[in-house]
Amino acid sequence: MMMKALVLVDACRFEVRDVPKPQIGPHEVVVEVKACGICGSDVHGMDGSTGRRKPPIVMGHEASGVVTEAGSAVQRWRPGDRVTFDSTVYCGDCHFCRRGDVNLCDNRQVLGVSCDEFKRDGAFAEYVAVPERIVVGLPDGVSFEQAAMVEPVSIAVHAAARLPVQLNDTAVVVGAGMIGLLVIQALKARGCGFVIAVDTKPDRLDLARQLGADKCFSPTDCDVVAEVMKRTGCRGADLAVEAVGFAPTVQTAVKVVRKGGSIGLVGNLSPSVELPLQVVVTRELSLYGSCASRGEYPACLDLIAGGLIEVDPLVSGFASLEDAPDWFARLHGGKENLMKVVVRP
Ligand SMILES: [Zn+2]
Ligand SMILES: [Zn+2]
Repeated sequence: MMMKALVLVDACRFEVRDVPKPQIGPHEVVVEVKACGICGSDVHGMDGSTGRRKPPIVMGHEASGVVTEAGSAVQRWRPGDRVTFDSTVYCGDCHFCRRGDVNLCDNRQVLGVSCDEFKRDGAFAEYVAVPERIVVGLPDGVSFEQAAMVEPVSIAVHAAARLPVQLNDTAVVVGAGMIGLLVIQALKARGCGFVIAVDTKPDRLDLARQLGADKCFSPTDCDVVAEVMKRTGCRGADLAVEAVGFAPTVQTAVKVVRKGGSIGLVGNLSPSVELPLQVVVTRELSLYGSCASRGEYPACLDLIAGGLIEVDPLVSGFASLEDAPDWFARLHGGKENLMKVVVRP
C-alpha cells in the first residue's frame, strides 16, 4: 500500500511522493493525518542549518488525526478514534522515563527529525505510525486543526508549570511569538493577575493584548525595565518567561524580576548567552529551563476546549500537501508576519 507524503528531498526542496504506507509493530498505531502544523524548527531546519532535518525526510511533529489501524497488543485505541500524539517519542523505560520525566528521556526521538543519532518520518503525509504510549485522545469540542496546536500549547503550559506561580502574581513574557503568546495565556490560566508582554513587533503586541496581556511594551519605544519597575512599586515582577533565546532578551528577563523572583527559560536560539551573574546571585533569582512537555497534553486539550487557551487567532493559513512547499518558502523568507500554518494532508 502506498500513500502521499511531502518529502524534503534536498535543502529547501520538497516533492510530494508516493511512498510505502507505514508498517506497525504490536504496540503502535497508524494515524490518518488530518492536520499537521509547520513548526519553526522545520522552517529553520529545512535549509540544513540545524543538522536535524537531513534529507530525505518527511517532517511534521504537530499533528492530529484518526486511528486507522492498531497493533496486535494495543488495548487503548481502536480504528476511528480521534487522537493527537506527543512530538517526543520517549522510550518509557530509561531512568528519566521511570521518574515521569519523559521529556528528558535518554532515548528521546522526535517525529519528523533526521539527525546523526536517528531518523524518524513525521506527519506531513497521509499516514503516520506512532507508539501507542504517546497517543492522546481528543475531547469532542476540539477540532483536528486546534489539536495540531497542542504541541506548542504544551510547551507553554509546561514552562508555566515549572514556575512557582502564586495567585495574582505579576509576570513578564519576553517575546510574543507563537510560544510567548501561548505562555501569556498559560500564565493567566495558572493564576497570574497581571501579565506584561514585551516584543519589538507592534502586530505581535496587538495579538498579545487580544490574548490577555494586560500591558505591552516594545524595547524600541521605551525602557522596558523602567516601565516594569514603575508598575510593580519599584520591586520588579514576580516572574518572567524568556521565549526568544538571545542575550538582550535573556538580560531583560533577568532585570525585570524582583529579588527572589523566578525566570522561565524557553527560548534557545543562541547556544550560549552572557548572564548578569551578580544580579542572579545577589538577588537570589531562580532560573528554570523548560524543554517540551511531560504529560500536559490532556490538560492542554481541555484548556483549548474550554477556551482558556485560544489557538485560532494564531493560525495564519491552511495548506494541502501540494501547497505546503510554497508556505515553507514564505515562512523561511520571513518577510510576512505569519504565525502557524496548518497542513491538511
Ligand atoms: Zn514544534
Ligand atoms: Zn526514556
